[in-house]
Amino acid sequence: MQHRSVVEELRERCRRCRVVRLFDPWGSPLCTCPPKYSLHPYTGCSHLCLYCYATTYMGFRRSVPKKGFLEKLRRDLKWLDHRFVINMSTSSDPYPPEEAIHRLTRETLKLLLPAGYRVLITTKGSLVTRDTDLLLEGNAAVTITITTLDREVAAKMEPGAPSPRERLDAVEKLASEGVPVGVRIDPIVPGVNDDPGELRLLVREVFSAGARFIVTSTYKARPDNLSRMASAFPELKEAWRNLYRVRGRWMHGYWYLEEPLRIRLLEPVVSEASRLGMEYAVCREGFRNPRFLRARSCDGSHLVPLRVKPGGSRWPG
Ligand code: SF4
Repeated sequence: MQHRSVVEELRERCRRCRVVRLFDPWGSPLCTCPPKYSLHPYTGCSHLCLYCYATTYMGFRRSVPKKGFLEKLRRDLKWLDHRFVINMSTSSDPYPPEEAIHRLTRETLKLLLPAGYRVLITTKGSLVTRDTDLLLEGNAAVTITITTLDREVAAKMEPGAPSPRERLDAVEKLASEGVPVGVRIDPIVPGVNDDPGELRLLVREVFSAGARFIVTSTYKARPDNLSRMASAFPELKEAWRNLYRVRGRWMHGYWYLEEPLRIRLLEPVVSEASRLGMEYAVCREGFRNPRFLRARSCDGSHLVPLRVKPGGSRWPG
């Protein structure tokens, strides 16, 4: 109840904003994220992941900086509540290759972090390490998505994104410098990156690189992303049709796999993370079993430290 009234208040204030939004993944009741804002300096995404969920409304196209973004953001700030995390970004990537030229995400961090806002970066872009200096000075944490260690599979499924090795190196660099960092193993796609041994190895690799939190989820199909996936993996087209459209279930805008299969796909990640003493969560699976959430938040919001007070002075210590 209290959660709902907080969300309603944030939503009301966000109505006046031009670029900051209240995070609300199509109103899905399966989302367990704490209330937070979402912010996207870019529209479109040059990482061009075939399974991307956001392409239904943003299109399957390269990243373009939003016009007048920083000016609009400056005006939005007065409506924001410092207690809630700003997630950059939930449906595009803040570190596409274009960021090396435009530096829009960097400028955004320069605006938010010294003023004590709490920022959670979600990215596949290894360029995030360029901004370690800013991240270390503010209330900031990073989650990096790595779906597989297999370079060829990644290149096929996420053709515009850095290789798995580059992303692992980014995790290592951030963690070794002191930036709190988690990893998203998301999505796990049946037949593509679901080998249990490889998933366990991936968990061990990200743990060795310094990640202490993992969020994972199974691939939920939408008509546009399933058709892209089927074109790239024609040998799996019929199996996916059966698993998603015949045996699966349409829920909240996606075809979901049957629950026992989703549990089986997630099990290697969850059990290995648990064995290593990592925090972990699953994303939008709707499981009641508490075994699938062993972290203070499902999205990594809890990783964001409190270093700077609202307004800019530093917390002691
Ligand atoms: S990085 Fe994220 S937003 Fe960009 S294409 Fe991939 S899934 Fe979509």
